[in-house]
Amino acid sequence: MLAHPSTGQAFASPVGPGSGWPGDPATPQTPVAADAARVVALSARAGSIPDLDAMVSVCRACPRLVAWREDVAHAKRRAFSDQPYWGRPVPSFGAPRPRLLIVGLAPAAHGANRTGRMFTGDRSGDQLYAALYRAGLVNQPTSVDAADGLSTDHVRIVAPVRCAPPANAPTPAERDTCWPWLNAEWRLVSGHVRVIVALGGFAWQVALRLPVAAGVPKPRFGHGAVAELGAGVRLLGCYHPSQQNMFTGRLTPVMLDDVFGKAKKLAGIK
Ligand code: SF4
Repeated sequence: MLAHPSTGQAFASPVGPGSGWPGDPATPQTPVAADAARVVALSARAGSIPDLDAMVSVCRACPRLVAWREDVAHAKRRAFSDQPYWGRPVPSFGAPRPRLLIVGLAPAAHGANRTGRMFTGDRSGDQLYAALYRAGLVNQPTSVDAADGLSTDHVRIVAPVRCAPPANAPTPAERDTCWPWLNAEWRLVSGHVRVIVALGGFAWQVALRLPVAAGVPKPRFGHGAVAELGAGVRLLGCYHPSQQNMFTGRLTPVMLDDVFGKAKKLAGIK
């Protein structure tokens, strides 16, 4: 057992459901999806965002990813060896009725897989939340752990694959197994969403599988690309704020500001 860096409470790694981790949506009674068929069944019966978040956060349907996320949580990175690791699927973060939905790829092994919150505790998240703060979409520019007070009224951030994959590369089968969780999430938030921002080509392709994209032309991904989906929803492309993209200058803070400024305007967020 190690102490949470913010609250000081002791946790095992991975963290037990309902054991007091900040933001943990689950309890020991939350039903567990142990295979792809159960993901389909449980996601279909999710009646609310808290309900969905809870079931996502205890899912065990992908054996390779369950083993990886838990192995990483046990072994840890040297810099975080004194911290407990979440080591579970990472539920979406943000507003339950978002006007702007941001789609990423998957949790980072020592970022969200450690902190239990999307894009929290790694360099990608540093860039993303700083940009969202500059755009007036979150309340603070930093995101270090799940108890740091970060909040948003307008944005929800989702991962199409909710467990950290080796080499940041989920298999097509893992992507498809996790898909019903995103499909259910779309069912619960779609009445509010005006704009989707896809961070990278993987997210772009996944977004084009959403029901709102059925029957519309499907343009190729590019930074700044715009796709008109159904019901007036727009899909914007943005390079993923990965350490490599930011370090090489392929993506800059100004480019992120352009995308989120445009997304905010299109979404009608004041
Ligand atoms: S990737 Fe998705 S479906 Fe697979 S174990 Fe994680 S949460 Fe479950």
